[in-house]
Amino acid sequence: MADHAPDAPGEAEPGADLNEADLIEAGRQLFAGECRFVFAAQRLEQVPPPAGVEVAFAGRSNVGKSSLLNALTGRRALARISGSPGRTRQFNFFDLGGRLMLVDMPGYGYAAASRSIKQDWQGMMFEYLRGRPTLRRVLLLLDARIEVKPADVAVMELLDRAAVTYQLVLTKADAVKPAALGRKAAEVEILARKHPAAHMEMLVTSAESGAGIAELRGVLAALVDG
Ligand code: GDP
Repeated sequence: MADHAPDAPGEAEPGADLNEADLIEAGRQLFAGECRFVFAAQRLEQVPPPAGVEVAFAGRSNVGKSSLLNALTGRRALARISGSPGRTRQFNFFDLGGRLMLVDMPGYGYAAASRSIKQDWQGMMFEYLRGRPTLRRVLLLLDARIEVKPADVAVMELLDRAAVTYQLVLTKADAVKPAALGRKAAEVEILARKHPAAHMEMLVTSAESGAGIAELRGVLAALVDG
């Protein structure tokens, strides 16, 4: 079963006994491993059988998900950086050194997608989230430059219902001035508090400058080791 947001006082986070430097080193080692594309699933029946720890990346089309995955894995083109949002409606599975499965979920909220496609996609996403025993966490990406959209809140509610812990990740931090970034982070933290399955620790990243990438690798390493 997916782990839930730590809500009981004293409930230990995986890897909580490690200090920041240890976590960053563990993350570096984890991501030094080979990252191998495993499978692209268009339908739930095609999703590979659960094995090992899995972490999924979700976000609106154009949020910077491909760029973040590429920055994390140090590959230029692991996940395709798209010039045309909304084209990829599939789950891509990447195996990281046999220790962690990274799942690139389809981007949502693209206006040109037809209503029925959106519904199908939502259904598949929910079934995957609810029924995936190895899924430890979803990283829900939010663009630091723009306001949180109704589609983001809808996905947060979906994740709450599926009872999968999710962690909010601000992307494109380089494109926002520090004061505005601070305000954005505070706003998103307030939003997270309203959602039962949201993890309280928000992450701030930039695929462009590399900010927050080592820390995010550390968070993922803690999930693998926890
Ligand atoms: P995806 O649709 O979520 O996979 O988003 P992409 O990774 O394809 O990125 C969408 C757009 O945002 C592209 O034009 C990227 O160059 C840009 N982008 C992605 N990450 C960053 C970042 O960290 N900083 C800045 N300034 N732009 C970014």
